[in-house]
Amino acid sequence: MTLRLDAPAAAREHCAATRDKGTRWGFVPTMGALHEGHLALVRRAKRECGTVCVSVFINPLQFNDPRDLERYPRDFEGDVRLLSSAGCDMVFTGTLEQFFPEAQGAPQAIRSVDPGPAALGLEGALRPGHFTGVATIVERLFDFVRPECAYFGAKDYQQTLVVRHVARVRGGPRIVVCPTERAPDGLALSSRNALLEPSWRERAPAIHRALLAAREAWRGESLRAAPELARRMHAVLAQSGLSVEYAALRDPEAWTEADPRGALSRAVALIAARAGGVRLIDNLRLDAE
Ligand code: AMP
Repeated sequence: MTLRLDAPAAAREHCAATRDKGTRWGFVPTMGALHEGHLALVRRAKRECGTVCVSVFINPLQFNDPRDLERYPRDFEGDVRLLSSAGCDMVFTGTLEQFFPEAQGAPQAIRSVDPGPAALGLEGALRPGHFTGVATIVERLFDFVRPECAYFGAKDYQQTLVVRHVARVRGGPRIVVCPTERAPDGLALSSRNALLEPSWRERAPAIHRALLAAREAWRGESLRAAPELARRMHAVLAQSGLSVEYAALRDPEAWTEADPRGALSRAVALIAARAGGVRLIDNLRLDAE
């Protein structure tokens, strides 16, 4: 059975009381509409920490597009059922006011947390304020739960760098990044996939195919130049009808705002594209596995 708490303060008290008795908490922050990608994080947290807590909170601070926020899928009852089956010990939710009571209902009074250098470029450039919103809620969630370890998905690559920055600055928790879970046709699982109309759902796996084309060029042809690797991805995406926001390369150990110049020695390929009105992101390490 998963304990369900409807206020962050109740979750804070529960975590504090159990921590005093020696419980080590693994923590998985989510925005709900849960799928196998989220549940993989929960199962890993359970394995590694013994006790796992999940937050379900659609954080308005990280939405730069009000329409995206409005139509973001919500199914808290379904989420609780899935979490019970995945071994989650506690799930909590709350409102922005409950997370930031000191702002007294005025979101602009919430103190922003610096998301660090990885917030520049790509997602950061296209979604102004997004990573500041992520850093601000993640720090507050860590303050409430005070977990040993927090689990994040590699699908949101730039977000993992931002979260690592937040954890480094505040001195914990340990951040664990888990592999991207995919549908059989390669599409990365995402809560937003539920919004795809069938014809766009059919085309969306082109994102993964484009990433694989870049990895094939990296491995098979030893291609190391970012512009040419990006061109390979664009060539695949062009046939799909998706509207590409970026298809780019970065050095995974040294994030840069701008596209890297010269030959890469390590690389992650990243794509954001719109399928109909639905914005999808994905990425793939080219030099690993
Ligand atoms: P979200 O609910 O979209 O904010 O995601 C909550 C957490 O689940 C984040 O750390 C995501 O990176 C992670 N996540 C989302 N989709 C996947 C996936 N397909 N595979 C692995 N992790 C995922």
